[in-house]
Amino acid sequence: MGKIIAIANQKGGVGKTTTTINVAASLAYRGLRVLCVDLDPQGNASSGLGVDKTHVPASTYDVLINSVPIDKAIVTTSMAGLSLVPSNIQLAGAEVELVSAASREYILKSALKPLAPYYDYILIDCPPSLGLLTLNALTAADRVMVPIQCEYYALEGVGQLMNTVQLAKNHLNPDLSVEGVVLTMLDGRTNLGMQVADEVRKYFRSKVYDTIIPRNVRLGEAPSFGLPIILYDARCIGAQAYLALADEIIERNGGKKA
Ligand code: ADP
Ligand code: MG
Repeated sequence: MGKIIAIANQKGGVGKTTTTINVAASLAYRGLRVLCVDLDPQGNASSGLGVDKTHVPASTYDVLINSVPIDKAIVTTSMAGLSLVPSNIQLAGAEVELVSAASREYILKSALKPLAPYYDYILIDCPPSLGLLTLNALTAADRVMVPIQCEYYALEGVGQLMNTVQLAKNHLNPDLSVEGVVLTMLDGRTNLGMQVADEVRKYFRSKVYDTIIPRNVRLGEAPSFGLPIILYDARCIGAQAYLALADEIIERNGGKKA
């Protein structure tokens, strides 16, 4: 059965989408069957994987709000072995429309359930909020992965995120646990980054992955070509870091298959 991992942090710009795209592509590069679910109305995971989000047969919005079967929304991406449920700006309305929906926190979980046997990993890219979209992801997921940017105030808001994860665990998804914490955008030229990394390790201890994602221009460029970093520039430090992170994830999940 595929492992479902939600990549969440209500702060914007911490590397959620970059991590989702590139972990997903690296897992696919290792020969695993991977599905990405774009749950952010910005649709950055969709465009970053080479999908024209304005011309898709269906989107996460249709799955959540219009009861479209999820397999009707799955498209291929620029990366072999990696499929995607795309999103676009329409999804912005879902946050409000879900409020009055029946079993509103469980819709994504029900949609993903029949897919689990067909994938080794399903990664959900969450929006920068703790609303009903993120709650749907936390309800559907086996695990939550938290990217934290190596900068001042890195841990600000993390307590609130952990409270939300705990609430989701208590009320919606008793099996939910933290898959890991990934430090992102480390600037190797300053001491600050390493100080923040130390602080995050004190807070999350062994939950923090050994791999730290460095700040790397190539990682910023790749999405504008619709390519994960492994296809854009496999040798750059960003690509190597995401491959190492994917290998740690595979290791934590007991070897090659999820
Ligand atoms: P989020 O999804 O949390 O909002 P993103 O993954 O979109 O964050 O990252 C925010 C911005 O920073 C994007 O422009 C992205 O390309 C860039 N970025 C992310 N990670 C890195 C990195 N390691 N090095 C350089 N730029 C990065
Ligand atoms: Mg994002």
